[in-house]
Amino acid sequence: MVNTASPSPTSFPASVKAPNRQPTEERIRKEEEQFNWQQLADKALVGEALTRLEARSVLDAPDAVILDQLAAAYRVRRHYWGNRVRLHFLLNAQSGLCPEDCHYCSQSKISGAEIEKYPLMTTEKIVAAADRAHQMKAGTFCMAISGRSPSPAVFEGVLDAVRTVKSAYPMRVCTTLGLLNENQAQQLKAAGVDRINHNLNTAESHHEDICTTHSFQDRLSTVQAVQAAGLTTCSGGIFGMGESDEDIVDLAMSLRSLNVTSVPLNFLIPIPGTPFAERDELTPQRWLRILCLFRLLLPAQEIRIAGGREVHLRSLQPLGLYAANSIFVGDYLTTPGQTAQQDFAMIQDAGFVIENADELSD
Ligand code: SF4
Repeated sequence: MVNTASPSPTSFPASVKAPNRQPTEERIRKEEEQFNWQQLADKALVGEALTRLEARSVLDAPDAVILDQLAAAYRVRRHYWGNRVRLHFLLNAQSGLCPEDCHYCSQSKISGAEIEKYPLMTTEKIVAAADRAHQMKAGTFCMAISGRSPSPAVFEGVLDAVRTVKSAYPMRVCTTLGLLNENQAQQLKAAGVDRINHNLNTAESHHEDICTTHSFQDRLSTVQAVQAAGLTTCSGGIFGMGESDEDIVDLAMSLRSLNVTSVPLNFLIPIPGTPFAERDELTPQRWLRILCLFRLLLPAQEIRIAGGREVHLRSLQPLGLYAANSIFVGDYLTTPGQTAQQDFAMIQDAGFVIENADELSD
């Protein structure tokens, strides 16, 4: 029964003050005016770098303006990539047993995570995984191995697998093998590797907080060795590891000056047994702001939503595609992803299309 004595939604007893909406509206207007995100997109579209202040403003912005930021990032993404989405398939071809101490990684020597550990897979197993990747419509088959850098025997095994996969499938092959020198990169290129991944991971100033067994400079040198060998590079970062906004801007600017081709953005999955097991710093909106920043600072690059997509973006995953143009289909190194069918449906529902392997431009 309706209680006719109840006040209407807009009438308040004399003792209760009606809420004054003015400050909130004023605050939102000021927030929206603080930076014009479309002007940042204009700069990105003519190849101009954002200033540090502008880059920081993208990360500092309130959740209320996230759709405006995504609209600006989408204008840049659409200019370079249309409505295409690239799919990568990741195989962990050698797991665990790593002598390094990357604090985020379940495969490190200091990790107590319960993961499967195995030496380099046989070529036959790797080819079977490449077949799965092809069936999942992946344009790029990414083969990763744990470890600081490959032993001669493992390196030979990788070369053999690459040759076999390349002769059987039209996919691009990318390898992630740890630290490499130019000679190794040249051998990989000769075997048919199209691209090598080696992430800078974070800003130089933050690197010691996440790993002590190799340096930021070691990582940088690998990226430069790969480029010297004439291969394109895939290099990105991991977020949610205690880095500051300044660190994130530093990383984006380092990747811009290296002119890397592909940029995977990983968001920490805090794995029990690793030193970062308790870290919980990310919200879906912060994730999206980081994606927008990288699109605006690296406008023409392939920006990939990598590890942590399902965990951190959750129901906002489709929004990520308005800034990024690439995702992993299938599982990650040691954690599962959602099914390929769910990814296909998400892409289609959001109005995007999967890029075929023979359409890959670089
Ligand atoms: S990220 Fe690579 S190098 Fe670092 S611990 Fe994990 S497997 Fe080893």
